Amino acid sequence: MSSESSIPWFDDFVGVAYRYYDLRMNVVPLIADRKQSSSIWHDSIHWWVDPSIKIRFVEMENDYWFIMGSDSQKPDTNLAFFKILPKSEHYERFKKGSGGEAYLRLGEYTEKSLSDAKKGDLCSCGHEANDHDEGDDDVCLWNDCSCKVFSSFQVNLLKRKKTITDIKFLEEKDVKDDPLVWNCFSVNKYSKTE
Ligand SMILES: [Zn+2]
Ligand SMILES: [Zn+2]
Repeated sequence: MSSESSIPWFDDFVGVAYRYYDLRMNVVPLIADRKQSSSIWHDSIHWWVDPSIKIRFVEMENDYWFIMGSDSQKPDTNLAFFKILPKSEHYERFKKGSGGEAYLRLGEYTEKSLSDAKKGDLCSCGHEANDHDEGDDDVCLWNDCSCKVFSSFQVNLLKRKKTITDIKFLEEKDVKDDPLVWNCFSVNKYSKTE
């Protein structure tokens, strides 16, 4: 408990994906840099003691806080994760479907430009790469679509995994009752607004 307060908070990642894979829900922090994802795994997550891994979701009005931490066999290089993310369909599905257990994996996140994309790849506007004009700033050619730049991404799930069995969904009024969440909010929210 006393060591918990000294663990640095890490939020330099792209987001969190929720995927079914290996018959269980996977929680997948997305890392944009390949070197960074392997050092995060080797230096920190690899040393986590599985039964002590905690994930907390704190729901605000439109966003939620993703908070993750664990006891480590190598406390010197331990990290705790947090990120404020918009509520999404995938998040809601995970909330309903996880049953309090999940696998933790890292995901390598790569953005694809129109020139890297295959014809059928979907843009965030919902239309295919095919439907975007290669000659003129990527604009989407559908009449009723306002998309001006093709944007798509690819997530590569890394194989190594940890099992998480301590997952809780909380509201801000519960923050004081959970040491990990309280530490996160103290450092990353309350100390900054006051
Ligand atoms: Zn588009
Ligand atoms: Zn479009």
